Amino acid sequence: MTPLGERLVAQIRATGPMDLASFTTLCLGHPVLGYYGSRDPLGVAGDFVTAPEISQTFGELIGLALAQRWLDLGRPAPFHLVELGPGRGTLLADALRATATVAGFHGSMKLQLVETSPALRARQAQALTEHGPVWHEDLASLPGDGPLLLVANEFLDVLPIRQYVRTEQGWRERLITADQDGELGLTLSARTMPLDLDPAAAALPLNAVIELSPARSAVMAEIAGRIAGQGGMAVLIDYGGSDPAGDTFQAVKGHEKIDPLTFPGEADLTSHVDFRAAGLAAAKAGVGVFGPVTQGEYLGRLGIMTRLFALVRGRDQARMLELESGVRRLIDPDAMGELFKVMALAPHDTPPPPGFLAEERLGA
Ligand code: SAH
Repeated sequence: MTPLGERLVAQIRATGPMDLASFTTLCLGHPVLGYYGSRDPLGVAGDFVTAPEISQTFGELIGLALAQRWLDLGRPAPFHLVELGPGRGTLLADALRATATVAGFHGSMKLQLVETSPALRARQAQALTEHGPVWHEDLASLPGDGPLLLVANEFLDVLPIRQYVRTEQGWRERLITADQDGELGLTLSARTMPLDLDPAAAALPLNAVIELSPARSAVMAEIAGRIAGQGGMAVLIDYGGSDPAGDTFQAVKGHEKIDPLTFPGEADLTSHVDFRAAGLAAAKAGVGVFGPVTQGEYLGRLGIMTRLFALVRGRDQARMLELESGVRRLIDPDAMGELFKVMALAPHDTPPPPGFLAEERLGA
């Protein structure tokens, strides 16, 4: 058992079983023993690899989409370029290199990074120093005036979920408990929970598992409220689908999926994003919601193949193949192209964000 795991066992013995969201918050966010507290989890030597680390085209195309929106808005100055959970800062570094020739874009921009990890803030500072970023612990301290162009890749999946299991008596919450040997295990709440579910989820069979994320809905509502009030656009990319059914709570350590209860604080804990719930939370806050569309479709529309052809020109064969295989990983249905989805938010009465069609607006 890990040092954090031992503390969790002691806490559960003292106060009783713990819900998955509390467990996740401690495992990821504990300032000393938490997963994101001290380490850089990205890359080949780390636990997982993300799209911007796989291909420079990812950040470049998103950067151009953001700059296009800025031009469509009439070049507002100042505006805030915001990233939630920027990792190593690679997406923004690629985005800002690609937009260097958009006259006035960098000069009007204030770079705002929402990041809790000190280790990753240091990486971001290295990658983005010339653009003078300002860091925030959460969205609450972002400036309240001026439009936001916001991007978040693999950020929503780290926000905690709670799970419920359908029993004869109704929905019971899945909780984490500790046995006599000091091992963590799963149990169900003694009481049933009155859940406000849509008809499809309410009709799920016995033993079905559903996942709800109040934390994710709250973040979506906050982003949406700001986009509606301050103007701009948000682009959210993550793995997931469009319903709450299924157990997707997962841990990854050293590029392997492991049992989420075995290495508390030493493995990344995530779950699939329910984009329907996320979109509804945003729509309620009064913003236009677009998508989700698959990552493969979105990057195709933004011109990833054209960008690839330009990049490989004049390169040796080994480099060409490397560039091509990166792009393939991002867009192939068997790799990240289909599991990953893209959703965008924009104020009502504005044109669809770059990469989206008018009929992809929620409720259109
Ligand atoms: N977007 C990056 C990194 C994804 S990993 C990429 O695509 O490579 C998740 C990121 O979110 C990390 O930067 C992590 O430190 C950050 N993070 C995790 N929990 C957070 C929280 N509660 N608030 C802000 N940032 C958080």
